[in-house]
Amino acid sequence: MIKVYNTLNKRKEEFVPLREGKVSMYVCGPTVYNLIHIGNARPMIVFDTVRRYLEHKGYQVNYVSNFTDVDDKIIKKAIEEQTSAQEVSERYIAECEKDMAGMNVRPATVHPRATQEIGGMIEMIGTLIEKGFAYKAEDGTVYFRTRKFGEYGKLSHKNLDDLRSGERSLLVSGEDQKEDPLDFVLWKPKKDGEPYWEAPWCLGRPGWHIECSVMAKRYLGPEIDIHAGGEDLIFPHHENEIAQSECCNGVPFAHYWMHNAFLNIDNRKMSKSLGNFFTVREISEKYDLQVLRFFMLSAHYRSPLNFSADLMESSRAALERLVNAVDNLTFLARNAKDEPMSEAEEALLAEARAFTDKFDEAMDDDFNTADAQAVLFDLVRFANSNVTGENSRAFIVEVKKVITTLGDILGLILEKKQEVLDDEIEALIEERQAARKARNFARADEIRDQLAAMGIQLLDTREGVKWKRN
Ligand code: AMP
Ligand code: ZN
Repeated sequence: MIKVYNTLNKRKEEFVPLREGKVSMYVCGPTVYNLIHIGNARPMIVFDTVRRYLEHKGYQVNYVSNFTDVDDKIIKKAIEEQTSAQEVSERYIAECEKDMAGMNVRPATVHPRATQEIGGMIEMIGTLIEKGFAYKAEDGTVYFRTRKFGEYGKLSHKNLDDLRSGERSLLVSGEDQKEDPLDFVLWKPKKDGEPYWEAPWCLGRPGWHIECSVMAKRYLGPEIDIHAGGEDLIFPHHENEIAQSECCNGVPFAHYWMHNAFLNIDNRKMSKSLGNFFTVREISEKYDLQVLRFFMLSAHYRSPLNFSADLMESSRAALERLVNAVDNLTFLARNAKDEPMSEAEEALLAEARAFTDKFDEAMDDDFNTADAQAVLFDLVRFANSNVTGENSRAFIVEVKKVITTLGDILGLILEKKQEVLDDEIEALIEERQAARKARNFARADEIRDQLAAMGIQLLDTREGVKWKRN
């Protein structure tokens, strides 16, 4: 039984999806105006791991994560660089995808972009106005009528009266036509030089919160299993998403709300605005990004995690121990006897497989990756002391599989990349040329595919065939 800590009810609850065997999951993605920093990487790694674990448990996961590609910061950057907001966001989406690949964060089932969902946003805002949950002010701004939604505050556990006492801080300049300081923007009129769309209320652009309500509904339906993001999103972003979605759709929006704690530096939140951040790209210059992933998973996702060079160093060393152990098994298997597994080996393999149950126990408990990593180390210790060159290949291969499978659930690639020597590549290329000459195209294609699988790209040039590593 998987237990998930649900921010909505402030306790761990049994995870029961709406549809048997299927999970719908929405994770708020980054605003793309810069390279992502390692604070942004925390939810990416954490919720990618949640997804992997749910899949390991047999669920089919529909995972949606957006890119916020229209926003004040993107527009500001575009103006500074004398280019368009679209050019800025496309550039940083591409960079973000590179970082995600480096961290072995799998692409979502769908990565919708706000600017491509404006039609849906206009429709939802229209419905909210029709139902009396939103209104247009004189200047064309559309606001959500917060007080009309009696359950407002249920996620952040704030009540409207407390909010009212702090309401001055909720007033943003230029929003003085609100009926009430707690109301928030759904649509706002365009300003000079900004991207805008046509809507029944005015030419303009959406407020931030509406995009997630719309994209979650479009790709996952009005009622979803899991909604996730960093804890700074609980209020107001997720609170506002709930208000919009539930007032529009009339059903509960998300059943489980999951929030990761902050990645800190010197015990303060790492953030662009404080300027105390490292980009994922900077870290990748010093470390394999697998080390960053290992580091992020070394703490429970709801505990604050302090970034330090020391912790990165110990993560690097720990990951290396796992990789070396797997490499040793690869070596032993290569030279092992081709014999059926002995009874004693069968028994040992069952013991090795039992570690999977312990691993699952840790992950079932609100995705405790720190404990799951500890189980992985216990398993490696077990393998180091029980597998030798005397064992059958079948046994060694199976033990190795138990380790790499658990690694894979955490998104850690424990198998060393096979080093391919230049000589081997050149011999294959020569063979391919000979095959082509002999009009044996099937063989030539086969070699090309084999090289591609090794990460070798062939380039036909005037001087003959050249190659490069991808
Ligand atoms: P943003 O681009 O600021 O909207 O952030 C994208 C995601 O990163 C959100 O889920 C944030 O909550 C999360 N995030 C931003 N900074 C941190 C941090 N220092 N630690 C953990 N998560 C963060
Ligand atoms: Zn969101």
